[in-house]
Amino acid sequence: MSGQVIFESENHKVVLFEELTPASAVQANQYLIIHNGEGMLLDPGGHKVFSQLKRDISAHLPPNKLRYIFLSHQDPDIVAALNGWLLTTNAEAYISKLWLRFLPHFGLEKNFEERVKPIEDKGTRLDLNGCELLILPAHFLHSPGNFQVYDTCSKILFSGDLGASLNQPYFFVENFEEHIKYMEGFHKRYMASNKVLKLWANMVRKLDIEIMAPQHGAIFKGKELVNKFIEWAENLKCGVDLMNEDIYSIP
Ligand code: FE
Repeated sequence: MSGQVIFESENHKVVLFEELTPASAVQANQYLIIHNGEGMLLDPGGHKVFSQLKRDISAHLPPNKLRYIFLSHQDPDIVAALNGWLLTTNAEAYISKLWLRFLPHFGLEKNFEERVKPIEDKGTRLDLNGCELLILPAHFLHSPGNFQVYDTCSKILFSGDLGASLNQPYFFVENFEEHIKYMEGFHKRYMASNKVLKLWANMVRKLDIEIMAPQHGAIFKGKELVNKFIEWAENLKCGVDLMNEDIYSIP
């Protein structure tokens, strides 16, 4: 059974599931936030992790107490098993309004469609049984309709693909400079532009963040590492900044 508690207080708990992905698929983290006995599941993933994740979650929360499913964007490692989650829980799912009509292509049944709620571009706030969760815009980081979650009770920022690392041999970042090599390639190619990274940095600097938890790879624990990431990101050239005629030439 997987599931590592990364925050715990009297009425609030955050659990990370990181070992469920099959070897050929990109490693993905799933997170469960529980407040006063109700839960939000973040970026639940695809069919290969569905059954195991459901079993593992049950050790922390009865599935019928799952209130929200948060989908940071439309990628298969996030959304593919949505139909199964809606079939076996009473949860409502939240995703950018841009992707709503694409979900039936993942096998979302007609009678579940009304339980998927569109998020407007400016984001929103959700109440998890007394704990406020901020749904923050993170468009083009990397998807055009993309959100992150800031949990005001644990002070964790769930940053989706931003801050992701691949093939690093640890679950928690120790040395930021050493860690850059596991993030750099992914961010330069998947993130859209430095302009949005700067907008994001200005927004999240207004929050009190203790942990930054991405959807792939290692977690940034402590303000020092979180601030180092924000600083690195706001200075990174990526995506359209790096496109040139060499790439845009007839193959
Ligand atoms: Fe993605």
